[in-house]
Amino acid sequence: MYTYKVMIHPNNKQFTRIRLTLNKCVECNNIVYDYLDSFIKNNEKIPSCSDVRKWFTIQKQIKDKETLEKRCNMTNKESRDKHLDTLFYDVSNDALKQEIKDTYNSFVRFFKKLSNYPIRKKFNSYKSSFYVDPFKIRFTDKKVRLEKISTSRKLNRQILNWVNLAEKDRIPVGISYYNPRVVIEGNERLYIVVSVDASNSPKNKITTTNNTIGIDLNIKSVVTSDEDYYKSVTKTKTYKKAVKKEKRAQRKLSRRYIKSKELNKSLKESKNYIKERKIKNKYTRRVTHLKDNYIDYIIKSIIDNKPKRVCIEDLDVNGMKKKKDKKAKQIRRCLQQNPFRKLLTKLTYRCERIGIMVVKADRYYSSSKLCSNCGNKKSDLKLSDRVYICPKCGLKIDRDYNAALNLKKYALAN
Ligand SMILES: [Zn+2]
Repeated sequence: MYTYKVMIHPNNKQFTRIRLTLNKCVECNNIVYDYLDSFIKNNEKIPSCSDVRKWFTIQKQIKDKETLEKRCNMTNKESRDKHLDTLFYDVSNDALKQEIKDTYNSFVRFFKKLSNYPIRKKFNSYKSSFYVDPFKIRFTDKKVRLEKISTSRKLNRQILNWVNLAEKDRIPVGISYYNPRVVIEGNERLYIVVSVDASNSPKNKITTTNNTIGIDLNIKSVVTSDEDYYKSVTKTKTYKKAVKKEKRAQRKLSRRYIKSKELNKSLKESKNYIKERKIKNKYTRRVTHLKDNYIDYIIKSIIDNKPKRVCIEDLDVNGMKKKKDKKAKQIRRCLQQNPFRKLLTKLTYRCERIGIMVVKADRYYSSSKLCSNCGNKKSDLKLSDRVYICPKCGLKIDRDYNAALNLKKYALAN
């Protein structure tokens, strides 16, 4: 599988239609969530997925009837102000169907003990998405066709379904697609995410040198066995500045929230809250983009050396979070911000695509405690010891660089 993520540029009409589809999907999630939740609270067995879907089709008709009755004496503008201008009928049925399946699966995952108890979706969350049927989606070099953006079936109105893509000729045309979704980030930027078969993806294998690289990851830095040292994202100046601005915006936003509650206004109506949320989303976006960009920079500079093999630690991030220490709270906070998991998955995936072998060291291989020169194990090494001193051969070496060298040895031995 190979996944494309491309930005789309809808016009104003299209944007409002997409926004409404997203809202209806959240509403659908909430209705189904409450229904399933009531079964669990009464200690009953939940019905099957197809039964839930049948139940929802009846609910859909009832809800649509209610909104039609409410807006029969209103003008168009009034109904728009009170958010009564869309029905479930106006929205793509495939998006709603998939939303029910997703909600149902989140409960199934909870019963299998794969995840925590599911959470209700919110209307103004930073990121949300809806599903598009893969047989109905169509691409040209510049445009993508979505379903039911236009409510009319007339041919000249159907043009509204075609949305502009930001990148020309990026997504291949005329093949089968998997799991296409429209994603919104920060109530402003829209993307289309679509997967294709691996045989259809662009392949460019490189000729590698005979070199092997060990990579040591920790909270403060990323160190390779070629003596390349990268500061962790969370320690850079630009990142710290961006986080500070985001925090300040969040504080202001919550003040606006309290004020609108005091005046008994709904959040959709209070303009100052909406204005402030836009600013806050801007900073959240900057923080996530800074992280992604920095990860890409590290991976690219590793790959540019064209090694034959790359050795990484199989980090147990969830285990690290559960540790009960004096400093456990601090470490947990660092881990939350640090994109370990993203870096590891992205690195393995990219290396395998261009033909670099990835070796994962065993989870209990103590790379930092061994001596890279003679192989002596120093079991009383503390986290505060930044310099590794070997009691047997007297080697003095930076702690992280020593770990990276050990990982390189591990890859050569296996
Ligand atoms: Zn030694």
